[in-house]
This record gives sequence, structure tokens and C-alpha cells, in this order.
Amino acid sequence: MQNRVNLLDLSLSEITSVFEAAGIPKYRAGQVYQWLMKGKGYEQMGNLPKTLREQLQEMFPLSFPVIAKKLVSKLDSTVKYLFRLHDGQCIESVVMQYKHGYSICVSSQAGCRMGCGFCASTLRGLVRNLTPGEILSQIIVAQADLGIRISNVVMMGIGEPFDNFENVVRFLQLVNAEEGLQIGYRHISLSTCGVVEGIERLSAYNFPITLSISLHFTDNEQRSKIMPINRKWNIETLLTACSAYFAKTGRRISFEYTLIKGINDTPGEAEKLAKLLKKHMGRDVPFHINLIPVNEVTESGMKKADKSSVERFCQVLTRFGCNATVRRTLGADVNASCGQLRLNEG
Ligand code: SAH
Repeated sequence: MQNRVNLLDLSLSEITSVFEAAGIPKYRAGQVYQWLMKGKGYEQMGNLPKTLREQLQEMFPLSFPVIAKKLVSKLDSTVKYLFRLHDGQCIESVVMQYKHGYSICVSSQAGCRMGCGFCASTLRGLVRNLTPGEILSQIIVAQADLGIRISNVVMMGIGEPFDNFENVVRFLQLVNAEEGLQIGYRHISLSTCGVVEGIERLSAYNFPITLSISLHFTDNEQRSKIMPINRKWNIETLLTACSAYFAKTGRRISFEYTLIKGINDTPGEAEKLAKLLKKHMGRDVPFHINLIPVNEVTESGMKKADKSSVERFCQVLTRFGCNATVRRTLGADVNASCGQLRLNEG
């Protein structure tokens, strides 16, 4: 099972080579590829002869993620999927509708080993990395299931994308491919808890994607306690890497700041955050701050900041010249923040 070729991990030109090596006519690769991007299995590939379909099934068995659960929000049209992979591992994806189109939040790993204290995805550690095709097929299956075209991707689901660097880069190339889903790099965001090595490696590719940083705290001691990654790369090192990323790619950085009651939600913290970012990002580096009232995860014991303190926090940031917004909560009734469904799966 481990070493078999999953066509979903390959680009069209790679499938073409694999087919050629197997003695399958080249033009069949294009046909198969089109079906795959629509989430269809061999049995549904109507323009392929039965013998070829059987041969492909034998040589390159497909493994699309299976929808184990699908929750549709009654408050908005958010859809949350629990997908089961071929080895039984479960991951989550969320589809959200915005004015500009549909956006999907995808997972990059089954589990996570980053250990952030407020996050449900990390409670049972990392099981394994997802392959490029497993990340891509979350989009393919959701599009097929809902009959929509997804135009935006955020890598903010389960996992730390930079802990699965090669597969994530490959996924970015696949999802952007002209003959594939054609999702523009400018419509893709990747979120990291602060793996500086990953930020540096990614900048070498110069993809015009948006880099999101899960900052959440302004004090190294506190950040290290709640986000262990800070012990390896502290806040200053992280912000210097962000500034260098902007210098290389010209893309504005986005910072995520989760507001936790009584921990990091005071006006004083907001002022500290504004000054910290201005100081370390450099004067002319544009950035945006996304404020997210924490989603309460029972195991963490952390409480959501009050609406009034969230608004006040945002006002202070704006007063200090920062571009900040409070993230709209979508799918509140379907536990749309990732990790919680997988946890309940046992
Ligand atoms: N590992 C990456 C991407 C996955 S998490 C990262 O850390 O950025 C996506 C975002 O959700 C991160 O900003 C993360 O800190 C945040 N998050 C995790 N648990 C949360 C919770 N309980 N409430 C609010 N945001 C949370």
C-alpha cells in the first residue's frame, strides 16, 4: 500500500510519463486527469474503454477521501467535512461562502505535534503527514459534493504546513496548475505557528501566496509556555523572518491573534502588539492583524474574550496605525474551527 503510485499526487505531465512507461497511450492521461479533478473514480470515466479502466484500477488504485461526516451550518452556509483517508485516519476541511466566492480551509497533517495550548488539533499529537494528493483531494471532493467552484484556499486546518514542507509545496504547485484546479497563488493563504525555517525555505519559491502568522502573544515567556515553537524561534526571530519574506515576495503578511479572556486581551496588550510589530517588521512593511476570539476547547480551559474587549483591542490597534479586523465567525454551530470533530472520532 505504502509505495503504490496515487495519481492524485502527480501533475498531468507526470501522469503522462507514468502512462507512457506502462504502455498506455499518452492522450489517455489528459482524459483521466480531467476526471480526477472532478472527483470521479475509474468506473465513472465514461470515455475510457472498460479494459483500460480495469487495468488502471489494478495498477493505480485511487483513494479519494471519503465523507465520514458532513455538517451544514444553519446560521450561514458553512459546511464542515470530516474526511476518512484510505488508512482510516480522519481529517477536517471547512467550506465557507464569502461575497467573492467559496473558500476552503484544508488540513495538511493528520494530527499535529506543535502542542499549542489552545488548539484541539494537537491534543493527540501527530499521526502522519498528508500527501500532496490528500491535501488536493479535500478540495476536489468538496467541490464535487457541493457542485461549486472553490476560488480560495486557506491552509489553516489540522496540522502545521511547514512540518510537512515538501508535500505542501507540491500541493501548492498542483492546485495552481493551469490544467488542474487553477486556483491562483494570490488566492491561497498558508498559516504557520512560527516555523522560521519553513518561512525561509518558502520564500525561495517566491509564490505570491499570503503568509499568515499565528502570533497570539507579545511576550516571549508567555508565548513559549503556550506555543512551544517559540522556544526554538522567539518572537523577534519570527518577525525578522516575516520582514525578510516581504522583502523577497512583496506580499503583505497577515498576523493571527487569538483573544483569550484574561490572558492576552487587554488594551495594554494591544498597544504592546502594535509597537512590537512596527518595531520588528520595519516601517514600510505592510501587514494586517486578524483578531479571533478563541474557540473554547474544553481541554484547554481557556475562555473566549468578551465582545467588548475584542472591540476595544481592535480600536487600540487602529489608533496605533495598524490595519486590524475582527474575524467574522462562520459556522459557529458546526464547530468550524478545526480539530474538534477529529478528536471526537475516537
Ligand atoms: N499550524 C498552523 C495552521 C493551523 S491552525 C498555525 O498554527 O498557524 C489555524 C489557526 O487557528 C492558527 O492561527 C491557530 O493558532 C488557530 N487556532 C487553533 N486553535 C484555536 C482555537 N481554539 N481558537 C481560535 N483559534 C485557534
